[in-house]
Amino acid sequence: MNMDGKLHIFFFPFMAHGHTIPTIDVAKLFASRGCRATIITTSANAPDIIKSIERSRQSGLDIGVLLIKFPSKEVGLPEGCENTNSLITKEMMHKFAFATTMLEQPFEQLLMEHRPACLVSDVFFPWTTQTAAKFGIPRIGFQGISFFALCASKSLFWEEPHKKLSSDSEPFAIPNLPDKIELTRQNLPDHLKEESDQIRAYAKQAEESELASFGMIVNSYYELEPAYADHYRNFFGMKAWHIGPTFLCNKDNEDKSLRGQEPSIDEYECLKWLDSKKADSVVYVCFGSVSNFDDAQLTEIAMGLEASGKEFIWVVKREKHEEGREEEWLSEGYEKTMEGKGLIIRGWAPQMLIIQHEAVGGFVSHCGWNSTLEGICAGLPMVTWPVSAEQFYNEKLITQLLGIGFGVGNQRWSMFMGDCVKREAIATAVSRIMEGEEAEEMRSRAKALGALASEAVKEGGSSYADLSALIEELELHSTGSGSNKKD
Ligand code: UDP
Repeated sequence: MNMDGKLHIFFFPFMAHGHTIPTIDVAKLFASRGCRATIITTSANAPDIIKSIERSRQSGLDIGVLLIKFPSKEVGLPEGCENTNSLITKEMMHKFAFATTMLEQPFEQLLMEHRPACLVSDVFFPWTTQTAAKFGIPRIGFQGISFFALCASKSLFWEEPHKKLSSDSEPFAIPNLPDKIELTRQNLPDHLKEESDQIRAYAKQAEESELASFGMIVNSYYELEPAYADHYRNFFGMKAWHIGPTFLCNKDNEDKSLRGQEPSIDEYECLKWLDSKKADSVVYVCFGSVSNFDDAQLTEIAMGLEASGKEFIWVVKREKHEEGREEEWLSEGYEKTMEGKGLIIRGWAPQMLIIQHEAVGGFVSHCGWNSTLEGICAGLPMVTWPVSAEQFYNEKLITQLLGIGFGVGNQRWSMFMGDCVKREAIATAVSRIMEGEEAEEMRSRAKALGALASEAVKEGGSSYADLSALIEELELHSTGSGSNKKD
């Protein structure tokens, strides 16, 4: 507890938008309950974070930022390369991961100087459990993925069913889950498949540090995946608080659009475009902050969207060439032909604003957990197009367990993009979530789940209650009346 009686909490997100965005929301939630929230980040990441908390600060929330130096140069990365969205090769990814292990010393210094009551840190910083323990501070892990994905990855990591298969395409069931969920080896992340001792050791360290931590914050809500919320706690013995969907704390348009980085399109221009469309008529296509498709795949998407006959907003992680220069992935005159029908955003979209607009009726998504939750809360059926991370698990949750999506067919896990999905498959999948009885059923299921999410974060709701319980436990701990042990 601070001199002013406030519980001071450090938040230390991994430097990737998919991690930083929800951590900022978690920090805002704690601050809205009277805590002091301090977000630790690096100088290149700080400006966007400061912008996204500015309005909360002005409204009186006690939320700030402290800086830590990122050793880009020391590991051979270009200066200012401090976020995964500027990594374009696997080699850069490895250097980046190594650089994060060098943050331990300066981070320890910050803990020593500020002595917060608690640390909420990314599971990609497994060493923080020990660092926090040196100061008697409880460390809570935050990964920002679903209970379902947490259970699936734990089960795969410890049981290794994929090691007993004869081929990459042979289906196998994930052991010990409440439902029969089948995957193939090609759906699995590299760290499960690679034999490299170093990667395996790092993954093991992350697992062990989760177990040794005070508990885990999960950006989900009980009503979405009750069997897996229970399974994670009861079967795997994890202490966890579900407090999501955390992004629902952003109520007005400015907060919704200032997430991650400055949008590349004026938000009002974008909303004006959507205002002119009929309800549920536009499909939104976006693959998160990391996936980066090659020209051939982008061409297939352009052609597939045109063939679907649906109106769309498509976010492409490319810069626009200067006037007059052609973009190899787009056929000549494409945008002119599609004017008024399809809007391409190059760079960063105000995603939350877009998908909550009533004109948007479907979402083609890479199944990153933030996008998935945002889509569910907006009541959108989804075309699932998983690429990397835990996205293939999320696809199963969306299509098989929740029944609100339809897979486009990519089977190969890859850091940036998988198999090239053809235009016909894209057009079929888009039509299937946008029109007909099946689409309507998926949409009404998604809307019902979205309504449950709104209830969960309201006073009296399950996520609201779990956050209250966590704060209470931390207060007890900081006054010395609680214990650092798991129940
Ligand atoms: N996002 C956004 N604009 C974009 C791309 C992504 O606002 O153009 C946001 C999106 O709303 C989500 C986050 O970035 O909150 C991406 O997280 P997710 O877990 O979906 O995917 P990742 O980027 O980690 O692969």
